[in-house]
Amino acid sequence: MYICDMSNPLDRDIQFLHGVGPKKAALLNKELNVRTFGDLLRIYPFRYVDKSKVYSIRELTPDMAYVQIRGKIISVQTMGTSPRSQRLSAIATDGSGTMEIVFFHGIKWMKDKLKPGTEYIFFGKISEFNGVLNMVHPEIEPVENAAFSSEYPLMGIYPGTETLKKNGMGSKAISKLVLSAIVETSNCIHETLPGYILKKEELIDLKSAICNIHFPKSLHLLSEAKRRLKFEELFYLQLSLLKQKYLRKTRGKGIKMPKVGAKFNYCYSKLPFPLTEAQKRVIREVRNDMAGGKQMNRLLQGDVGSGKTAVAFLCSLIAIGNGFQACIMAPTEVLAEQHFNSAEGFFDGCGISIALLTGSTKSKEKKEILERLADGSIDLIIGTHALIEDNVAFRALGLAIIDEQHRFGVKQRSMLWKKSDPPPHILVMTATPIPRTLSMTVYGDLDVSVIDELPPGRKPVKTIHITEKNRRNMYAFLKSQIKAGRQAFIVYPLIKESEKMDYKNLEQGFMSIVEEFKAPEYVVAVVHGKQKNEDKAYDMNLFASGKAHILVATSVIEVGVNVPNASVMVIESAERFGLSQLHQLRGRVGRGSDMSYCILVTGHKLSKESRERIDLMCSTQDGFELAEADLKMRGPGDIEGTQQSGTIIDLKIANPVKDNELLEEARRMAASVLEYDPDLTSPSNKVLGANLKNIKDEIKDFSNIS
Ligand code: ADP
Ligand code: MG
Repeated sequence: MYICDMSNPLDRDIQFLHGVGPKKAALLNKELNVRTFGDLLRIYPFRYVDKSKVYSIRELTPDMAYVQIRGKIISVQTMGTSPRSQRLSAIATDGSGTMEIVFFHGIKWMKDKLKPGTEYIFFGKISEFNGVLNMVHPEIEPVENAAFSSEYPLMGIYPGTETLKKNGMGSKAISKLVLSAIVETSNCIHETLPGYILKKEELIDLKSAICNIHFPKSLHLLSEAKRRLKFEELFYLQLSLLKQKYLRKTRGKGIKMPKVGAKFNYCYSKLPFPLTEAQKRVIREVRNDMAGGKQMNRLLQGDVGSGKTAVAFLCSLIAIGNGFQACIMAPTEVLAEQHFNSAEGFFDGCGISIALLTGSTKSKEKKEILERLADGSIDLIIGTHALIEDNVAFRALGLAIIDEQHRFGVKQRSMLWKKSDPPPHILVMTATPIPRTLSMTVYGDLDVSVIDELPPGRKPVKTIHITEKNRRNMYAFLKSQIKAGRQAFIVYPLIKESEKMDYKNLEQGFMSIVEEFKAPEYVVAVVHGKQKNEDKAYDMNLFASGKAHILVATSVIEVGVNVPNASVMVIESAERFGLSQLHQLRGRVGRGSDMSYCILVTGHKLSKESRERIDLMCSTQDGFELAEADLKMRGPGDIEGTQQSGTIIDLKIANPVKDNELLEEARRMAASVLEYDPDLTSPSNKVLGANLKNIKDEIKDFSNIS
């Protein structure tokens, strides 16, 4: 990643590494994204095994993971009839007990290789099948060949895939390749951090770090190597983000919007509710940014239901009042339409022209909208991805608001940015509370505003966990709520990998709901991703207007739908949703002043982790608490939103949650470097500038937006 000139062996194509060749190179490329010698060096082991330790079979337990056993083969047998079900089963003993060795591939070859009576070292993962301990596809070496190295007691286990393993590139093979790569490049591993940083942070140099992360000489050196490499990643990440911010704030161009304008004041005066203090504060922050003459790049975090829409609308009026246009981009058509509908009411009488542009806007209408955007006769456009298409041009876009930003990829955001010069002010709004640690990593360059207060009168949502056997009671409860004039959501999971099954579940669910809640007494609407947009809008309206009692949906409704009369949210197969998703869904109810309910339906048997999630949902409503817990349980890579947007740099070894202290340290260091040398031109910082440029080349578009 941080590697410069072309004559550098680190940049050499991986196929030229001893033992690789074109075929393996293609695999390494595809499976591990390794293209050069340098890339290979940056594939780090994810765990280490103490090779000096040999276990006896009697000591083994199925939770032991990787171990080394020394034993004799007593029998070798091929089991199963069809080629697909065939496996090779060998029994090994070391005197203390016996263990099965299993092979599903390369059976013939293995059968010849394994000699009964010979003593081997088996190295692999212990698992249990039908109560018998076994090792599947272990590494095997006759005892006389095995090296019990005392110089390198710890052996790294490399990440891999089935495909790699099948092609003879298991962890051990990769380790060998890494060793040759180190040998061939060791004189060219140049330090990426200035000496004064190494000294101040007490870090070991890059070359020792690379050697010790792969072939640790001791536990101590391993932990030093890890610390050094983690720091490097986090430091460059922060340096890049902070530099971006610094440039924007000092040298960036921005549109100056000095006044609030009469339109803002008019709408403000006729708001149907007083704004919360938090909403007012955020509007002030935005106003200051927009008046300052530099481009605003602000993230607005506010829990579901905190009233971000009103803030977005009022901010749009500032841009419009200064003679510019504004746009609001939503992740789904349903949501864009909903915003459009509420905008019509909100801006009533203030004399601005609003339009809606989505994928299903008819082409004649679209043409007209595009013309009116270009000539400036539309003040505010609300829409979906359709807004960022190339043919959408504005007369003067002054503010771009992105709602529920985690649904948008990074590239898409940068396209909005480019629709005006100087670039429009940007406000990204998210309901996913992002813990500080993570926001420092992912959005380190954005200014952050938080709406930390809900509008008054909201009642907490009573959250209940039930299983299948309570289903009848749940239906009875829904009926009583409907009788009292309320409405209910019933949501089914939709996970990409099992989409087909999910739709089947939804379909079956819908059928049984219709069966239970019979027409004409009950009206049941349904929305899901496979519908035509018109049908979706129709059913959505049916529910939003109160004509339908129940809305059966996939998680498409998760973002932003506002139906204050809905008082029950039923989440089917709740164990399949992540915490923040559950929280988002729950946020769809509890918007009116009535008591509302969230019912989590799960199977009877739950994994420990699912149970934790469900219990947590039942015990707290605090979005931040849930987000922190989610982060701890799943790790940052999985947090909604960050997966798509990703961090600027693909973090290979650092984990912003677990390595929180190091992250803070790296950020402080990056800030202080930039404070004294913002252009990174001093001789000692040159190396930082050069490496940063390399990173930027990889991520071109990203650096623009967040
Ligand atoms: P979100 O932040 O989840 O996008 P919305 O903007 O959809 O939330 O607002 C949720 C509901 O709260 C809407 O019905 C909105 O009209 C209402 N609302 C917003 N601000 C206030 C306020 N200050 N007082 C009372 N109700 C409010
Ligand atoms: Mg919203």
